[in-house]
Amino acid sequence: MTALHLDRMTWPEISEQIRSGRGTVVVPFGSTEQHGRHLPLGTDSVIGDEVGWGLAERLNAFLAPTLRFGCSEHHLAFAGTISLAEDTFRKVVRDIIRSLCKHGFQRIILLPTHGGNFAPLRQAFAEVGPIEGVKILAFTDLEGLIRAAFRSSGKFGVDPVKSGAHAGEWETSVMLCLRTELVNMERASEGFLGSISEVMAKFTSGLENLDQNGVLGDPRMGNAEAGKIYLKDLVDFLHQWVLDQDNSWQY
Ligand SMILES: [Zn+2]
Repeated sequence: MTALHLDRMTWPEISEQIRSGRGTVVVPFGSTEQHGRHLPLGTDSVIGDEVGWGLAERLNAFLAPTLRFGCSEHHLAFAGTISLAEDTFRKVVRDIIRSLCKHGFQRIILLPTHGGNFAPLRQAFAEVGPIEGVKILAFTDLEGLIRAAFRSSGKFGVDPVKSGAHAGEWETSVMLCLRTELVNMERASEGFLGSISEVMAKFTSGLENLDQNGVLGDPRMGNAEAGKIYLKDLVDFLHQWVLDQDNSWQY
């Protein structure tokens, strides 16, 4: 199985690949938003690139470029964050689907890697409705994703509240694996350590109200070896989700 980067190819090459049966395209939806004092703003997009590629490899699919802006209103108190309004995001999602549907793809897989994108993605997916000849799969189970991440970190004995939903141990470990040169562990500090239900109830008022550094969890526990396993586990989890959606697909 191989994957192909859509944006590194010419249109005749893409056309030929689709004609010869490569009918699936994966589209990750990341963000440009603060991730504490120790991780770069591109964290969710880097994870989108990597996990999207891993999934595309399993599916013998194309990988479209990660959308590097998402819905990040609750991070705007922190310098550099760029946020799309939800209606803008929904329109972008619809336009991406509309474009890809013109080229003969049979399956489009929408893959958010930033929490704020899940609800508007679900809504955009519902607005698009069924399209003849194209199967669209949108991964919209944010809680399922978080549970899967915590199962992985649990293997290393990390408590879910420390593994964290944002810039905590899980994301820090993954970034130490993928972009260690962009991680500053000396600046890593313990963030908000509430439960996920507490986080869900409070974060919409702005992350600065939970932790002044913008962190949920404890990034100081991060390590690259764990991050490598977290990434593999996440790709396994998403691959299984795709198979569960439609086990009649042939790859
Ligand atoms: Zn993130």
